Amino acid sequence: MKFGGTSVGSAERIRSVAGLVRDRRDRRPVVVVSALGGVTDLLIRGARLALERDPAWEAAVYEALSCHHATVTTLLRGRSQDPLLAHVDALVTELRSLYTGVFNLEELTPRTLDAIAGIGERISCEIVAAALEDAGTPARAVDAGRVVVTDESFGRAQPLMEETGIQVRATVRPLAEGGTVPVVSGFIGATRKGVATTLGRGGSDFTASVLGALLPAEEIQIWTDVDGMMTVDPRLVPGAKVIPEVSFGEAAELAYFGAKVLHPATIKPAVERDIPVRILNTLNPSAPGTRVTARPGEDVAEPRAIAFKKGITVVLISQPRMLMAYGFVARVFEVFDRHRTPVDLIATSEVSISLTVDAADALPAMQEELGRLGEVQVLRRMAIVSVVGRGFLRRAGLAARIFQSLREVNVVMISFGASDVNLSLVVAEDEAEKAVRMLHREFFEGGRG
Ligand code: ADP
Ligand code: ASP
Ligand code: MG
Repeated sequence: MKFGGTSVGSAERIRSVAGLVRDRRDRRPVVVVSALGGVTDLLIRGARLALERDPAWEAAVYEALSCHHATVTTLLRGRSQDPLLAHVDALVTELRSLYTGVFNLEELTPRTLDAIAGIGERISCEIVAAALEDAGTPARAVDAGRVVVTDESFGRAQPLMEETGIQVRATVRPLAEGGTVPVVSGFIGATRKGVATTLGRGGSDFTASVLGALLPAEEIQIWTDVDGMMTVDPRLVPGAKVIPEVSFGEAAELAYFGAKVLHPATIKPAVERDIPVRILNTLNPSAPGTRVTARPGEDVAEPRAIAFKKGITVVLISQPRMLMAYGFVARVFEVFDRHRTPVDLIATSEVSISLTVDAADALPAMQEELGRLGEVQVLRRMAIVSVVGRGFLRRAGLAARIFQSLREVNVVMISFGASDVNLSLVVAEDEAEKAVRMLHREFFEGGRG
């Protein structure tokens, strides 16, 4: 059972989480928790302030201290608060010294950022374990830094399944089998040498999937603040509808193209072992949620959801002299490869290629190299809007409906045909929401724009 930041955002929410876990005690749950809502953002913001030598970093320390203290003192009574408050203080002291280091050195390496960003989960697992105990459920906080062994890719570390499996069998499983609920910190891990890492933003889902695969669990439950995977982000379109069942492939596609409800990498360890994943709502626990299954159910060729992702950069490289020549695309990709910059969408013509990148950090360096291959144009502040579903390549008229409904939006790039589960297009960031609403209306609200 994985509880996201929104599900452990306040003392009251943590109490209902404790109730949900207690009610399922006979299924011997293992709990994974995110940091309290907003804490990871706060920790990272503080680090950036320290790096810029902005004295406001101190405020981040106080905020981290006071929000956790407030939660503990509301949640628990009297002396039972003491060990938890001491734990919060110790970790906030650690945070302060990390920030001081960043401030003094004017340097923030990915390794240091991971040590900072993971502090929220190291606190929240203790708080949730205490809340469970308080509700009469034997529980023990487990620091994932001692369980999830990862490689050294700070900021997006990959769990090493074999080593992690050994730890899971040695620590997590015996607790659960003995009737004590392990409350594992999500998002974080450590290298073989014990250096703190994180699995990337939203990574607690990944932790849940890795642990679920290695235990192995009978089911992985992702508890969040919406009724499941929906036809569109409900924060943007109130008419969003729950999708009762999605296949792993669709869920991965949706997550990858921006349906933040599930971390993209979440899917893999679970798929490989055929473990069902369910997305459930802490605020509405009796709702059936969304089941993520290994194989698609009935094969209806139609859109299932609309996803979008902002902050995209489009790179266009054109080289008129390349007409009829070969090797151009390979040389362009070689540059992206060398700068370890993943490309999401691609469209090519005889003399040009356009592609989208999510993380544009390496772009200035790449631009010069790409400039040697052709004329380069960079469009920033773009968004990818994706229609995700099944059997698109067999569906006549789908593209027509999509573009008809987007007739008022300027589409910069189109990607279709690479898979039959996705049609993606690129629009300016400030037109993305309008495009998403129009597509949702076309396909899910029964009315044609
Ligand atoms: P948690 O803190 O539980 O990990 P997240 O904020 O990571 O929660 O993910 C849940 C949020 O994902 C929802 O509040 C919702 O706004 C957003 N979201 C985006 N796209 C979708 C979608 N297609 N279906 C459901 N939720 C979505
Ligand atoms: N707390 C981490 C984040 O905000 C991990 C997670 O919530 O899944 O990215
Ligand atoms: Mg999340």
